[in-house]
Amino acid sequence: MCLPGEEGTTQRLSWQCCRNPDRCRWFFGAIKRTDAEKQLVYSENQTGAFLIRESESQKGDFALSVLDEGIVKHYRIRSLDEGGFFLTQRRIFSTLNEFVSHYTKTRDGLCVQLGKPCLKVQVPAPFDLSYKTVDQWEIDRNSIQLLKRLGSGQFGEVWEGLWNNTTPVAVKTLKPGSMDPNDFLREAQIMKNLRHPKLIQLYAVCTLEDPIYIITELMRHGSLQEYLQNDAGTKIHLTQQVDMAAQVASGMAYLESQNYIHRDLAARNVLVGEHNIYKVADFGLARVFKVDNEDIYESKHEVKLPVKWTAPEAIRANKFSIKSDVWSFGILLYEIITYGKIPYSGMTGAQVIQLLGQNYRLPQPPNCPQEFYSIMLECWNGEPKERPTFEALHWKLEDYYETVFSYSEANNFIR
Ligand code: ATP
Repeated sequence: MCLPGEEGTTQRLSWQCCRNPDRCRWFFGAIKRTDAEKQLVYSENQTGAFLIRESESQKGDFALSVLDEGIVKHYRIRSLDEGGFFLTQRRIFSTLNEFVSHYTKTRDGLCVQLGKPCLKVQVPAPFDLSYKTVDQWEIDRNSIQLLKRLGSGQFGEVWEGLWNNTTPVAVKTLKPGSMDPNDFLREAQIMKNLRHPKLIQLYAVCTLEDPIYIITELMRHGSLQEYLQNDAGTKIHLTQQVDMAAQVASGMAYLESQNYIHRDLAARNVLVGEHNIYKVADFGLARVFKVDNEDIYESKHEVKLPVKWTAPEAIRANKFSIKSDVWSFGILLYEIITYGKIPYSGMTGAQVIQLLGQNYRLPQPPNCPQEFYSIMLECWNGEPKERPTFEALHWKLEDYYETVFSYSEANNFIR
């Protein structure tokens, strides 16, 4: 096993074998942030379990991932050109071994003191129905058993189901007439090829008779909107809120890279899985649903008023783009930070449209840090081109605590 920064290493990033597996057990090399999370939460690890990996976002830097009460937190370890590693400039270590040795003796600003190195486990890949259905896109609806109704939306119901008596799935049953099956199949074919750890995977469909079934991966904790509302600040705090926002931005950055537009990004369309995993759902569906203008402008149910999530140019001129998704993402940040409050509470859609035209924006919610609110405001730039990309939003949120750290000099480096 080899470690960067060991004695005798001539270049900053050259590697030298220390020939002592016990010393190196915490070094996991170039694994992804999500894989680090899986390793830390899936095995028998306790609070304090940690690993060091090569940073995905900043080549040449490293990241520390540590388990704290079931939640994995990540810190960027910066390295100096002349050699040395640090979380904070006030304490620089010449090797990663020294770094680890220090933080296993004292917390010194970390969320927890480092404990045991993360156990290396072979995380079994979840059974993926989509591979089984690659050539069998349309499946027999008799192979799906509906077990429990999970919820309902404007266009139908969602059920927990079992496919072939073995695989848990979510089944969306669509109200007859809510879409043209041919339009849907065209869109679904594209959706099926979109694969990302932060997007709900579409597995299969049953379209030959009504109701149409859309079969996707099952997310145990349901929608982010309800999840936030049920918590209301008891367990979920800023660290987790920033993390959810970063995960959603990561899924959206993938859609952006595929030139795909979501069109209905909102907390109700983000789903929560186990171990604090958040995934974007229902991408592309808004395009195929038959929605009349009245529904968009004036819903009777305030909760379902998509106009409050929709960018002004999309409402005015039907100009949907990834930048109108960025606007919606700003509203989603508002939902996250307010624990699922309805934006522009008490206002009708028409009032919101009028006020936005006069440059009104949702005010900074109480307890919302200025840095977080600034990101929301960037998303609501009246000029779509001036709004950030999802890629930029993703990294900004990933690095949120570093930015805040340099502002506030706070001795808290958690993200
Ligand atoms: P709308 O249809 O207006 O967008 P919605 O997104 O809330 O509203 P649905 O997508 O039909 O409506 O979902 C209804 C509820 O079902 C969600 O709020 C969520 O609690 C649950 N749900 C949806 N998809 C899944 C899934 N894949 N796994 C687990 N629960 C789900």
